Amino acid sequence: MNNNHVIVVGYGLAGGLAAIELADAGFQVTLLEKMPMPGGISIMAGGGFKGSKNPKMSFQYLKHMNNGTTPDDVLRAFANSMSKIPNRVLELAKTNSSKIDFWDSEDRDAVSNHYGYPGYDSFIQCRITETPNVDLATKWKYVINGRGWEGIRLFNMIFDNVEARKDRITVHFDTPMLGLIKKDDRVEGVHTKFGEHSAEAVVLACGGFENNDDMKAQFFQGRPVYAHGHWGNTGDGIKAAQKAGADVWHMWHYHGSYGFRHPEGFAIRVHGGEAWRPTDPHPPRRHEAKKLYHIVVDKNGRRFMNEHMPYATDMGHRPMELWSGEEVRYPRIPAYFISDENGRTAGPWGTVRMNDVRAKDIYKWSDDNSKEIESGMFKKFDSLTDVAEYIGCDPAVLVATFHKYNNVSCIEGDHEYKRPNFSCFPVKKPPYYVAEVWPVVGNTQGGPRKNKNFQVIDPYGKPIAGLYTSGECGSIWGHVYMSSGNLSECFVGADLITQHLLSLK
Ligand SMILES: Cc1cc2nc3c(=O)[nH]c(=O)nc-3n(C[C@H](O)[C@H](O)[C@H](O)COP(=O)(O)OP(=O)(O)OC[C@H]3O[C@@H](n4cnc5c(N)ncnc54)[C@H](O)[C@@H]3O)c2cc1C
Repeated sequence: MNNNHVIVVGYGLAGGLAAIELADAGFQVTLLEKMPMPGGISIMAGGGFKGSKNPKMSFQYLKHMNNGTTPDDVLRAFANSMSKIPNRVLELAKTNSSKIDFWDSEDRDAVSNHYGYPGYDSFIQCRITETPNVDLATKWKYVINGRGWEGIRLFNMIFDNVEARKDRITVHFDTPMLGLIKKDDRVEGVHTKFGEHSAEAVVLACGGFENNDDMKAQFFQGRPVYAHGHWGNTGDGIKAAQKAGADVWHMWHYHGSYGFRHPEGFAIRVHGGEAWRPTDPHPPRRHEAKKLYHIVVDKNGRRFMNEHMPYATDMGHRPMELWSGEEVRYPRIPAYFISDENGRTAGPWGTVRMNDVRAKDIYKWSDDNSKEIESGMFKKFDSLTDVAEYIGCDPAVLVATFHKYNNVSCIEGDHEYKRPNFSCFPVKKPPYYVAEVWPVVGNTQGGPRKNKNFQVIDPYGKPIAGLYTSGECGSIWGHVYMSSGNLSECFVGADLITQHLLSLK
């Protein structure tokens, strides 16, 4: 065992933060990244994270969000550690003068907690708003991050902090962890293509299994489920931990949506509109930002879901995953996104996320959707009868679906699927534009099960000495996901793991 040396596997936010925290506590850190570039899916994220201003209340909220799938002591430790996040971020921001915006979740138009369980207002929302003196578009030219820069700014701040600690953190790219070294019940290092590397502890921060087709088929209800444009996360940490004796949890759960499929096979999630909270008496103004002129129908030409769920970019895939015993198929995979001329001119239908230095073409969605229509991702039709022929459904059923949506849901309210009034815009100005939509995984939540120190535990609850996880590799979210919870977990993991390793000294 190599004392005082910790190997961190994966250089996304969880790995970067763990390396920094451990280095600041006096450890020598080796940070291994499989891909030629850092960032993982973290750099494609929205960049929102949370602190807690009242850990007791936050614990209550986390308990509701997890609904018995994560023990109380883990949630308590998580909530307590969340209270340290704002100060920690202020500290990290000094390295490159990043500007941070903190706000109380109730102070803004933007909804940052979608479900009104007790304690939802106990958080402070955080994001990086400015990164002076650097051209991020050039520095991260192989990254496309949807509609904003916050995710890139956050990861960039962590990257600069790792660079500033080069005397204590050694980074190796193109170096996948191939397995763990375990001796006498203790994890003591990792295997890579260069051989064995020994350490006092190993932190698995190597993401989930978004890009492992077999694991998705084994654990998800629907299939196929497509992932965004980052190819590093293939469940390596989960398999290595299992081989070392780990239990797993939350494997079915993913942060997802519905979206389109680029011809090269990666997903582009639908522009889902802004989030809203069903328990709010007044929908926030920000909802006016994007008008959604589309509905989604199944293979029979019927609507089956609220296309603008409270948190569509987290839950949008869930209604699609039904397998029908009566029809002996997945009638909603793919489903069909149908918009019209108003929709075409109202802004991009999709938001692209990519992080791949090797990509020949960093795909940019056109402002007026014309490129996607030209490429054939969207088909164009003059009438609903033509749309029905393309889908292969009864035209009368599709016409009735549109009649009901345009003349009942948009006027009296969408009582059937509860799409909110402020988001029901008629779809009736030909031509119609149709694309297949699929379940899209943003990130998986499942992986090695962990305790309140983020130590990996075996199926009987015994910690595996020397083995930790952070980030989405075995995250705490086992029921409903709290927005900004995954990036927050990267901060929490770095804190709890470091504290535990120090306590063993
Ligand atoms: C579009 C989108 C928006 C999101 N927005 C938000 C948000 O605003 N707030 C929020 O909290 N969450 C958000 N999330 C979720 C969040 O981005 C992720 O859960 C989080 O970034 C995971 O961080 P990570 O460090 O665990 O994983 P990653 O950032 O994916 O890092 C894992 C790294 O490990 C590497 N790796 C994999 N296998 C190996 C191996 N064998 N050896 C070495 N390296 C390996 C990968 O290449 C990768 O670089 C979003 C997700 C998506 C997709």
